[in-house]
Amino acid sequence: MPVATRQRPRIRALETKLINQIAAGEIIERPASLVKELIENSVDAGAARITIDLQQGGVARVAVSDDGVGIHPDDLELAVSRHATSKLEALDDLERVTTLGFRGEALPSIASVARLALRSRLAQADSGWEVVCEGGARTSRRPVAHVPGTTVEVRDLFFNVPARRKFLRSERTELLHIDQVVRRVALACFDKALELRHNGRACLALAAAVSDEACERRVGEVCGDAFAEQCLRVDESGPGMRLWGWVGTPGFSRSQRDLQYFFINARPVRDKLISHAVRQAYQDVLHHGRHPAFVLHLEMEPARVDVNVHPAKHEVRFRDGRSVHDLVYRTLHAALAQPAGAAAGNRPATVPQAPLRPQRGLALAVSEQMQTYAALHAEPAEAPLDDRSQAGETPPLGFARAQIKGVYIVAENRHGLVLVDMHAAHERIVYENLKRQLEDRAVAAQPLLVPVKLRVSEAEARVVEQHGDEFERFGFDLSPLDATTLIVRGVPQLLAHGDIAALVRDVVSDLAEHGRTQRISEVINSMLASMACHGAVRANRSLTLPEMNALLREMEATERSGQCNHGRPTWVQLSMSELDKWFLRGR
Ligand code: ADP
Ligand code: MG
Repeated sequence: MPVATRQRPRIRALETKLINQIAAGEIIERPASLVKELIENSVDAGAARITIDLQQGGVARVAVSDDGVGIHPDDLELAVSRHATSKLEALDDLERVTTLGFRGEALPSIASVARLALRSRLAQADSGWEVVCEGGARTSRRPVAHVPGTTVEVRDLFFNVPARRKFLRSERTELLHIDQVVRRVALACFDKALELRHNGRACLALAAAVSDEACERRVGEVCGDAFAEQCLRVDESGPGMRLWGWVGTPGFSRSQRDLQYFFINARPVRDKLISHAVRQAYQDVLHHGRHPAFVLHLEMEPARVDVNVHPAKHEVRFRDGRSVHDLVYRTLHAALAQPAGAAAGNRPATVPQAPLRPQRGLALAVSEQMQTYAALHAEPAEAPLDDRSQAGETPPLGFARAQIKGVYIVAENRHGLVLVDMHAAHERIVYENLKRQLEDRAVAAQPLLVPVKLRVSEAEARVVEQHGDEFERFGFDLSPLDATTLIVRGVPQLLAHGDIAALVRDVVSDLAEHGRTQRISEVINSMLASMACHGAVRANRSLTLPEMNALLREMEATERSGQCNHGRPTWVQLSMSELDKWFLRGR
């Protein structure tokens, strides 16, 4: 059709039903979204107990019942109208939202794409009332039997939107999504009792958790016992904020981000700033490509966080992101750094699928001893202890007995056998040592008797020229001789016995590659890590018994020595009873 004759469509106001269906597109993606919105309403209504009853993965039926404040009979019809809410009055309120909902969109959106029945009874009333909506059209209210509280029943999701129905997956998959929503709520609101039923069968039943122990039990029920056993409890306050919850030890890392829960004032939130702070806190202790697990609650003045960023309300904007980042980073970093004991920076990881499973409880006991020991021997032992020099006191990691294939140290402690990966352990010790030196001021340098010449690329030579000061701080005396040659006159003391050319090359290329793109602290850590790797005893080097004992003593005195810089465990404990079991002794 020629352009000139084509008629421009005229503008018209959309029908309410269509408006609601468009809004539904944003917030109702699948049955799990229904469950999320309905549970949020129950939470906002102050419910103590919430029951979710499903049929066919929630596609046929989702019913959420609560014992909250209920809805006034005169408001029932309003509740299912667009932009009608009891949670906001004026613009001011939007700046300090204390409820999960506030947009007044969920019920009308749901009603526009499914059959919805809303039943409610106020606590003092002697009867309940009901309104029913089908694809947007609604009946007037009528009395109905109901206990105090509210039930929202949604049937036949997307019965009138075939295009959306096509995107629904199998019953199992939809149920899985709902299960995740309910679990998230369970971790957001410990004080609510929750029950999830599917096709008449109970899938999850959680009693309200009030005490610390009960909360921890719930964490175990929701995230699995392995997490509950291997997590650290954190609770820290910052300026006008409190961060509390549980973070997984590095030994409990995941290949996916599936165990990461962050709540701000009980609202589940996904936020880049928070993820960054968490990642940074774990950066030293987690193997590349692994993800930490955590359940964290941030409590803060509602006025300091803007929740009106996204219709599904899981994104936020902080008024002061920096202090939030600081609190998260600081809290996690400190928890992960504790040298052994109650917190498990030093807790050796259990080795999955290894034929020998070190006893976790026992390793913990050893970790606790290590903490006491570290306090008593605040200075890393300079003269190696051996059995005779300290009669009567066996250090937590015991005494070295032998070395295997130049890789493992075999030691004996009070509980039995200790195996140490000596390269991994030493790498961590050197790394922590370098970090300490750098925090104190600068890494101690040692001049080389014979300077070393090194060919590098022109770009690398330029990096050395530009970053002379930093290299000096790191303990290097380094300068370009010409466009492609460096001369090394001094290196960090701790690393002086290593392969100097390889060390310098690694550090220079680290800086050349990351210098511009990464935060300075990350650059420093990655430089220190590659330095530490060079400084650590190589596998396949044989150590004398005093050298091995010195290493064990240093491990006992070093923060985070339970994992190497890549998050692998550095030692494991095998108790006498485990050894006895192999040989069927004492049975
Ligand atoms: P919003 O939660 O954003 O206010 P909704 O459409 O989800 O919007 O709900 C509309 C209103 O209906 C709420 O503001 C609330 O007053 C009422 N309501 C919905 N569900 C419940 C419930 N389970 N208990 C009490 N009131 C409810
Ligand atoms: Mg709502």
